[in-house]
Amino acid sequence: MSCIFCRIVAGEIPAGKVYEDDDILAFKDINPARPVHVLVIPKKHIESLAHVSADDTPVLGKMLAIANRIAVEQGSPDGFRIIINTGRVGHQEVPHLHIHIVGGPEPVGPMLKRI
Ligand code: 5GP
Ligand code: ZN
Repeated sequence: MSCIFCRIVAGEIPAGKVYEDDDILAFKDINPARPVHVLVIPKKHIESLAHVSADDTPVLGKMLAIANRIAVEQGSPDGFRIIINTGRVGHQEVPHLHIHIVGGPEPVGPMLKRI
């Protein structure tokens, strides 16, 4: 199995798990960009948001629906940002769909630097 996030799901690589159920797993980003930086993934391998089908709608909903609880529990009670990098243009580095939850006590800053 070459996918690093599938290996985390399988328990072959350790990760700082913060939430798990039958369909999704959330764990701390190994290289956090903000004090709170958690990744939420489907346990099923889906390459990216460009590869989802209608069958994936429930798991996508679960990933978003759990985000606020995780953010609050991890120390971002006053809001957070969700990022889903997708494909080459989206600068996705790990080809297993994931949402980033970033936050902390302070605002994370402007959305993107304008060009
Ligand atoms: P992407 O650019 O694909 O949206 O983000 C991938 C994220 O996965 C990066 O923020 C990176 O730090 C994180 N990451 C990569 N490998 C590992 C790992 O083995 N464990 C954990 N916990 N995070 C990882
Ligand atoms: Zn995978």
